Amino acid sequence: MYNPFDFTEKKILVTGASSGIGQTLSIALSKQGATVAMIARNEDKINDTLSQMQGNNHIKICVDLSQNKDLTEEFKTIVSDGKKLDGLVHCAGISSVESIQMLSSKRIDAQMHVNYYAFLELVRLFSKKKYSNGGSIVGISSIAAVSPGKCQTIYSATKAAMNASIESLAPELAPKNIRINTIMPGFVKTPMFDSAFNIDYTGSNDIVNETLEHQLLGASSPYEIANACMFLLSDASSCITGRALHADGGSGLG
Ligand code: NAD
Repeated sequence: MYNPFDFTEKKILVTGASSGIGQTLSIALSKQGATVAMIARNEDKINDTLSQMQGNNHIKICVDLSQNKDLTEEFKTIVSDGKKLDGLVHCAGISSVESIQMLSSKRIDAQMHVNYYAFLELVRLFSKKKYSNGGSIVGISSIAAVSPGKCQTIYSATKAAMNASIESLAPELAPKNIRINTIMPGFVKTPMFDSAFNIDYTGSNDIVNETLEHQLLGASSPYEIANACMFLLSDASSCITGRALHADGGSGLG
């Protein structure tokens, strides 16, 4: 029987696979039978992800996405087993909370490269016939794209750029049978949020409480965001493209 959530014959590229949402997604995809090509910077950390995955055809590639790098060689490696990609999720990202006085072109570039320019490079290569025969692309954006917090000037701009670009890319890529969407999480319990706000989860931190107050369903887990990714990667979302999905626990409502 046809199962739109079937991943058994699918090969998915996940960036940021060494931590947080990307790591959780890689593990979840492997448990659904997908082959996962993982991109991250740190080999020990990718190995940690790999040790928690099912199946043994997964591919790991160590690359720093902050260097505005042409990723052609990495894509060649990914398809060198003769199987093209069916999906791509750009989870790698960096965030910062900083005032306008703290910004420098170096700090701006760092976020633009990882969060946005790398996304465009990945989409550019994924949409070549030699690397995929169509499929689904998902960018992990943020609710900050549409509702930025104080001192998220650059982070919110990188995510808004991603959201704007998919609206232009969707009609360009539809004839190639490629769908492209973003997901806008709110507060997700991952190392990124911890380090951005330097928090613990005991509830003693004012910023955490304030943030959670605006998120009706409370902090999301990386599993919940991974599930949203898997929906957009799967055939179950075959009529959805060019959209930014709120997966933000009802952030800002009520
Ligand atoms: P995380 O810090 O756990 O993971 C970020 C990943 O990006 C890591 O695997 C890291 O290695 C990778 N990365 C960072 N810089 C890189 C570089 N130069 N080259 C290659 N890889 C690099 O954080 P997360 O919460 O899992 O974040 C995943 C995505 O979700 C990010 O794009 C983030 O902006 C987005 N997001 C997170 C939250 C949240 O509250 N955690 C909310 C909204 C959106």
